[in-house]
Amino acid sequence: MNRSGPKILAIANQKGGVGKTTTAVNLATALAAVGRRVLLIDFDPQGNASTGLGIRSNERLITSYDLVLGEADLAAAVKPTAIPRLSVVPSTIDLTGAELELVSMVRRESRLREALNAADLPYDHILIDCPPSLGLLTLNALTAANSVLIPLQCEFYALEGLSHLLKTIELVRGRMNPCLAIEGVVLTMYDRRNSLTSHIEQDVREFLGTQVYKTVIPRNVRMSEAPSHGKPALIYDLHCPGSKAYLKLASELLKREKRQMEAA
Ligand code: ADP
Ligand code: MG
Repeated sequence: MNRSGPKILAIANQKGGVGKTTTAVNLATALAAVGRRVLLIDFDPQGNASTGLGIRSNERLITSYDLVLGEADLAAAVKPTAIPRLSVVPSTIDLTGAELELVSMVRRESRLREALNAADLPYDHILIDCPPSLGLLTLNALTAANSVLIPLQCEFYALEGLSHLLKTIELVRGRMNPCLAIEGVVLTMYDRRNSLTSHIEQDVREFLGTQVYKTVIPRNVRMSEAPSHGKPALIYDLHCPGSKAYLKLASELLKREKRQMEAA
């Protein structure tokens, strides 16, 4: 971990709809709420994190596309949000093109890392919201990151998908980023009434041990309503169960971080 700079966290899972963006937006908000300076890089062409933070399409002039292709520096791409201490690098559908354009470039997996290395980073945490694939965008995020946070939905094929992701993390460690750590796995859209949920939770906790956060994020309709208001759930309804869970997750993450610092 780079102690002099921010901690860079890639929020990744190649499966769509598992809660990556919801986790990115609400964890970023929770960290900002407790005084951290946070940057969220929207690295998914769908731009859901940007929308969820209230950045309208016509405001996304310089984006993560420009950043990763070296056409703009970080400072130009960063936009403040309505939340104090939380900024965002927005994305648009243009980022789909970057996935193709990167293929023929040198150091194609390291473009985001180079862009961040070249910039002042006045943040405590940088969160990268990855797209639902293990293509070049996700590889760029994993190469730039200190650690990976994996949102996992308790469903039948969850562990299979997870082992594929863990292999990719191994590969990135071997070639581009030897220090890449696993920050943790967070169970999302958790439904206590569903017996499959607790079975899968058991398997995941057996397989990954303490890497799985104690905090689980419950399935909660307020979480899915918030993005259409251009607000994180934490702002839309601070007291709903989902918001409370993300606050708890942030505090668990910070506690672990503190323990790691003390151990180092
Ligand atoms: P991903 O970024 O992995 O594709 P999202 O965060 O966009 O996943 O979540 C997929 C969908 O599920 C979205 O419509 C989102 O609003 C909804 N969602 C995410 N987390 C929850 C939750 N805890 N409870 C209810 N709905 C959720
Ligand atoms: Mg997403």
